[in-house]
Amino acid sequence: MLPEPPLRLTLDETALIHNWHRLNELSGAARAGAAVKANAYGLGAVRVARLLRDAGCRDFFVAYASEAAELVGIVDPAQVSILHGPQSADEAAWVAANGFRPVLNSIAQVQLWRATNGGACDLMVDTGINRIGFSQEQLSDPLLADLDVTTVLSHLASAEEDSPLNALQQQRWSAACAALGRGERSLANSAGIMLGADFHGDVTRPGIALYGGVPCAALEGEIRQVAFPEAVIMQVRQVQAGQGIGYNSTFVAPRDMRVGVVALGYADGYLRCWSGKGAMLAGGKRLDVLGRVSMDMTVIDLSQTPELSEGDWVTADYFLPTAAALSGLSQYELLTALGRRFSR
Ligand SMILES: *Cc1c(COP(=O)(O)O)cnc(C)c1O
Repeated sequence: MLPEPPLRLTLDETALIHNWHRLNELSGAARAGAAVKANAYGLGAVRVARLLRDAGCRDFFVAYASEAAELVGIVDPAQVSILHGPQSADEAAWVAANGFRPVLNSIAQVQLWRATNGGACDLMVDTGINRIGFSQEQLSDPLLADLDVTTVLSHLASAEEDSPLNALQQQRWSAACAALGRGERSLANSAGIMLGADFHGDVTRPGIALYGGVPCAALEGEIRQVAFPEAVIMQVRQVQAGQGIGYNSTFVAPRDMRVGVVALGYADGYLRCWSGKGAMLAGGKRLDVLGRVSMDMTVIDLSQTPELSEGDWVTADYFLPTAAALSGLSQYELLTALGRRFSR
């Protein structure tokens, strides 16, 4: 048996499934899919996809073919869209052979896909974010005329803001869908769902809100926390008044203190921005982070928790909206930074 790591990322399955159902309801006549790229934002794509499949989700979005490969045997490949499309002829051939759906983003990718006789695909139309995707004009290219298009996608640049770009992108996407005259329509990410029915199309593509993120005020109170980073107290020690704690002694004990050294550090994605700011939770109490976060350790105040001792687990305070406000990191970074040492 392999030794268990002293840190784990606990996933509240009920909360995840709740969030998907709620986003599905909020998507109105459209059905909610799930963005499971980047290992489901760090939570574990296989586990998340299996849970959401069983909850009724049937549209999954990954960035790369290598991510789709992890879902073989978990979800029907015809329900998995590969957002970045094929990067080479070999990759296009693999995607076609395995029955996944590439999202084609350029004429070059259309050529790669046609060369495989690959079948069903999606198209990404750029309506103002200026990353990847076809321009309006390219949609009339004869190479696209007989493609078997399942879904026409676009992606919002500022869905979580009250920006005039939202309505503009919605109009351009509607026009592109009408011009193509085939395929289902998909525009909204998590925040986009809250922009209203005009943004829903047939399929929405929430990511962050599935995993407990609250990207816009309209989703407050709707979304439950899903990810809980937990770690073991490796050592308890007494620190005398006047002594410094951690690198560079950025914290000096104002009184005698009982402190705990927790097996969590910036190598795990618990970044140095939490130094002197973060907290761990145990039994309803908040335990402040003292001094700098190290690569593999963080020191917390145990003065008020004599009941906690070496070997006990604590949970990082990681409620995404407040954690983002406090740390200066985005809710997306907070999740995707969580490292490989966590057992998931
Ligand atoms: C990541 C991504 C999403 C999900 O966005 P969230 O803001 O996490 O809901 C949707 N669509 C595309 C194209 C994406 O890249």
